[in-house]
Amino acid sequence: MMPDTQTRLVGVIGWPIEHSLSPAMQNAALREMGLNWTYLAFAVEPERVGDAVAGARGLGLVGLNVTIPHKAAVIEHLDEIDESVEALGVANTIVRTPEGRLLGHNTDGAGFLRSLAEHGHSVGGRAVAVIGAGGSARSIAWACARDGASSVAIINRTVEKAEAVADLVRATTPLAAVSVAPLEGREAQEAVSGADVVIDCTSVGMYPKHEVAPVVPGEWLREGQVVADLTYNPIETVLLQAARRAGAQSVDGAGMLVHQGAISLQYWSGQEPPVETMRAALLGALGARK
Ligand code: NAP
Repeated sequence: MMPDTQTRLVGVIGWPIEHSLSPAMQNAALREMGLNWTYLAFAVEPERVGDAVAGARGLGLVGLNVTIPHKAAVIEHLDEIDESVEALGVANTIVRTPEGRLLGHNTDGAGFLRSLAEHGHSVGGRAVAVIGAGGSARSIAWACARDGASSVAIINRTVEKAEAVADLVRATTPLAAVSVAPLEGREAQEAVSGADVVIDCTSVGMYPKHEVAPVVPGEWLREGQVVADLTYNPIETVLLQAARRAGAQSVDGAGMLVHQGAISLQYWSGQEPPVETMRAALLGALGARK
């Protein structure tokens, strides 16, 4: 579809942004939905975030995705934020209402829970081990606690960062069973082996350093567990290979990426996005990179 006077714009802001897979995924969905919208990637310097958000408001964009390093900085430029943004202090989706108000959402945690659900899994009533304590670990730990996990253990190389994530989860959800462990040692082994759902939120195993030891030894994993890895390049990471060998069920990171984007598109359009089309576009774009 060639742009015309009715074409509306939506996009993603980040710095840098060239690596983003969102345009491929979102434009494939827009085509299938028959929406006369175009999704673009905007490289926005950190000191220009306010200008970029004001531009979206003034030009009447449908909305924006927000990626690193702007997820926290956009918040002061929005009119309203939802509960996830309030708790986590980061937004990845901005919706512009027809009146020009800007609403902030964070779809990462919900996207992850949907990716589990499409494999028939959930965290409700289950013990969860989150490995890592960076930006994605915060969203995932919070979402699992909010979605009814019976306990959440946060395991990280830098234990102080795990403490900070645990404090956030305790302060913003009703879950009291939140524990912390350093990555190496017996406590981590017990938490990982005892968990029903193990979620790797570290960057260990990401291409091009994909042929490394998994973030936890394969011997810590077992049959009956669900092991999810947020890293999506490669799709089957070293941790997921170890999970397969241990007889655990694995969930790759592509599902979360697709679903967080699909939830954003649902906010913007009010329609159910074509998730399989988005997944195919994402996998195609990933394959083209190698
Ligand atoms: P981040 O904020 O930079 O956090 C990275 C985490 O990895 C930290 O906890 C860090 O530990 C840990 N780490 C890094 N190298 C390590 C090593 N060699 N050994 C042990 N731990 C190590 O990153 P993020 O934004 O949370 O992203 C993490 C991963 O998730 C990336 O691969 C990213 O691509 C992926 N991700 C995927 C999705 C999706 O939709 N599938 C969404 C978001 C992120 P320290 O605290 O000790 O440094």
